[in-house]
Amino acid sequence: MTHITLVAGARPNFMKIAPIIRAVKQAKGQGQNINYSLVHTGQHFDRNMSGRFFEELNIPAPDVNLGAGGGSHAMQTAAIMVGFEKYLQTHLTDLVLVVGDVNSTMACAIVAKKMNLPVAHVEGGLRSGDRTMPEEINRIVTDSITDYFFTTSKKANENLLQEGADPDHIFLVGNTMIDTLLSNLSRLRKPLIWDTAGLSEKEFLLLTMHRPANVDQIQKLESYLRKILAHSRGMPIVFPVHPRTRERLQSVSIESPNLFITEPLGYLEFIYLLKHAKAVITDSGGVTEEASVLEVPCMTLRDSTERPETIELGTNELLGTEPSYIPPALEKLFAGIWKQGGELPFWDGRSAERIVDHLIHLLQICA
Ligand code: UDP
Repeated sequence: MTHITLVAGARPNFMKIAPIIRAVKQAKGQGQNINYSLVHTGQHFDRNMSGRFFEELNIPAPDVNLGAGGGSHAMQTAAIMVGFEKYLQTHLTDLVLVVGDVNSTMACAIVAKKMNLPVAHVEGGLRSGDRTMPEEINRIVTDSITDYFFTTSKKANENLLQEGADPDHIFLVGNTMIDTLLSNLSRLRKPLIWDTAGLSEKEFLLLTMHRPANVDQIQKLESYLRKILAHSRGMPIVFPVHPRTRERLQSVSIESPNLFITEPLGYLEFIYLLKHAKAVITDSGGVTEEASVLEVPCMTLRDSTERPETIELGTNELLGTEPSYIPPALEKLFAGIWKQGGELPFWDGRSAERIVDHLIHLLQICA
């Protein structure tokens, strides 16, 4: 039996890993000699950022939780590496599969390679070109030692080829986060805030912010909120607040009847809001992908993106990281001239199946 160790650690990982687990189980059910275990590094640990997604997305309980959350980047990365090395010393595996670009992705890839295990990276090849972002460092380091790349776009393949990756080891499979989106569209759940804020379809804006460049300076965070409130024509703004942002937000003195601040929402509730929003203002990478597929106008508060296809083919536009760029973007939205999204190749809900098919072939698993 070939054994694959799957790694997940932080919120955006859970949506990416859920369909892969399903596809492995399906292959096993069809007689393939493949099995998996799931390692949760504990990078995100509270219910709103972790446990809830396991319940909502029917992800089986992890085989182990390394409990390596909290602390600085270095402390967290080190704790994950120590925990994962111990785990691999006592659990035989044929391949380690990591997803996305969080600290867990990089830390576990390094540990696996140093134990001479092959590493597969789902969402390999994304590059923003902005090395001030910790995620970009995680992407570059992970891909520099990855054996098998599963990519979401042609551009990611090009990036990898440019960096000298073996073309025979790069597989354009699509987007497992979108697998999760498409398979849950019929299960979405209206959040409580829908009624408390008196929301109606396409009559509110959704806001998420957690990148250091946007939320670390309290003045800037406040300025964003003021600009959004001043130019949103009285529409409710729903702002589910990432734990990273929560602390800073406490020092911001804005009271408005149109601003509805909530805890981070569960996936089914968040996507319900996203689907019905007039637009989303965000600095999340995953949300730009989901908004593009749902054809919801997306304004990204960043200077660069590692997901250019959401701009070229989707509904995403980069506004930059200056609050003053918000008013013209909202004007454009209200003028009804925001671009329409098109189809994103391979983002069809079957990416995880493709990944598992490739793994079966690569690891020469026989039924
Ligand atoms: N998300 C969620 N609840 C929220 C905000 C986001 O379930 O309150 C989901 C969102 O739909 C997407 C993922 O979390 O699937 C994105 O996570 P995050 O913004 O933390 O990561 P990034 O994409 O920036 O790496």
